[in-house]
Amino acid sequence: MNEQKCACGCARETRIVLACAGASNVGQISNEAAKRLDAAGEATFACLAGVSGGIAGILASVKGADKLLVIDGCPVACAKKTVDAAGLAGYRYQVVTDAGVKKVHAFQLDETDIQKNVDAGRAKLNS
Ligand code: SF4
Repeated sequence: MNEQKCACGCARETRIVLACAGASNVGQISNEAAKRLDAAGEATFACLAGVSGGIAGILASVKGADKLLVIDGCPVACAKKTVDAAGLAGYRYQVVTDAGVKKVHAFQLDETDIQKNVDAGRAKLNS
């Protein structure tokens, strides 16, 4: 799991990102943003399906994180509803369409749209 130092460098915190990873451009942008946040060491990308499936180890990791970022593709909010149903609270939240990306059933992703969501996720994790 990625661990980040706190602002003063005296302790470490665990951060997890979950994405809806839905079957649309915005769902896949959520997935790509989460992958890149993980690759950059900003947070560990964990399985939303494991949360919805009640997988004990995944639930324990997500519940034990110091910071949790949830990214949905659109206002249907599948990831948010999943984490709410699991009893999670106090998480940071982001919706890809809020950045002005129009939802379509297509999978060729715009690099600028991905980067906007990586930047927004990083800012939320560091807030
Ligand atoms: S939040 Fe939107 S894009 Fe994501 S899985 Fe649900 S309907 Fe699909």
